[in-house]
Amino acid sequence: MPNDLSAALAAAAATLSAASDVTLLAHVNPDADALGSALALGLVLHRRGKAVRVSFGAPESVPETLRGLDVAGLLVPASEVPAAPEVLVALDAGSVGRLGPLADRVGAAGAVVVLDHHVSNPGFGTVNVVDPEAEATALVVLRLLDELGAELDEPVARCVYAGLVTDTRSFRHATPSTHEVAARLLAAGVDAEAVARPLMDSHPFGYLGMLAKVLSRAGLERGAAGGLGFVHAVVTLEDAAGLRPEEVESVVDLVRTTAEAEVAAVLKELRPSCWSVSLRAVSRVDVREVAQVLGGGGHRLAAGFTAEGSAGDVLARLRAALESVAG
Ligand code: AMP
Ligand code: MN
Ligand code: MN
Repeated sequence: MPNDLSAALAAAAATLSAASDVTLLAHVNPDADALGSALALGLVLHRRGKAVRVSFGAPESVPETLRGLDVAGLLVPASEVPAAPEVLVALDAGSVGRLGPLADRVGAAGAVVVLDHHVSNPGFGTVNVVDPEAEATALVVLRLLDELGAELDEPVARCVYAGLVTDTRSFRHATPSTHEVAARLLAAGVDAEAVARPLMDSHPFGYLGMLAKVLSRAGLERGAAGGLGFVHAVVTLEDAAGLRPEEVESVVDLVRTTAEAEVAAVLKELRPSCWSVSLRAVSRVDVREVAQVLGGGGHRLAAGFTAEGSAGDVLARLRAALESVAG
């Protein structure tokens, strides 16, 4: 580990050890890495007698598949996050904006600890532990737990595992040392199948009907993305009615299997004329760069942005951004 990261970890541990009240925030539309990381660290701090709350700016409800990670009842609605937290910890948020409606707490907090793995993170905290080499923020959190001398028991290990298994796509993007971390988590009692199946492999029957509609309208543009191929699909509010965000978020995992396309995109309607867009690449296009052109961010092979307009308008802007990066 580089020296500056070790120093940042020590500073983060010192800040948290001295705190009596800690607010941990995941990014908006939290995934298993953001919320699992927050809950793992939150649980350890809670056991040390600190007042701890975990939250996120939007949506209002906690994703059903992540609720089971909160064994100590640390999750609170965004409306219960103090206006000026004593110590704020931001997890898996590559920029202040990713905290959504809670972004203003960054300027108001007594201290801000940033724990993240986005290469573009500007370091918006007073202490920044940002490791772009880490496959998940959960790994950064585990290093901090070790720095704190915390016990890695099953509930804590499960939260870390949830973030790790999802961000590495079931350990396909994991270094040998990350596999060793996984072994450590399993040895702590994590049931890998019981954690991963609800997160990645389980949907209500209505999912199949939604997929049938959405995938039948998918488009393939073989010449796009500099000739590497581009596949896209659109999930409207009507398509998603009655289903959880989990079902909508997983559509891109099917669309991206298209062999003729290097880049996959799924437009998810948030409200009329407002879209959250997921981008994925196989290996050759840096979709973070594409997302950044459009005001978003992410990682080389998984990125996203939000955009206003009709689906056709958003696709046209995306096509142009793809040509500017991959063309
Ligand atoms: P998603 O497609 O929603 O799973 O997002 C993939 C990755 O892209 C996330 O892990 C984030 O790093 C990033 N990302 C998604 N949406 C945005 C956004 N609106 N702004 C910045 N980064 C984003
Ligand atoms: Mn995330
Ligand atoms: Mn992550």
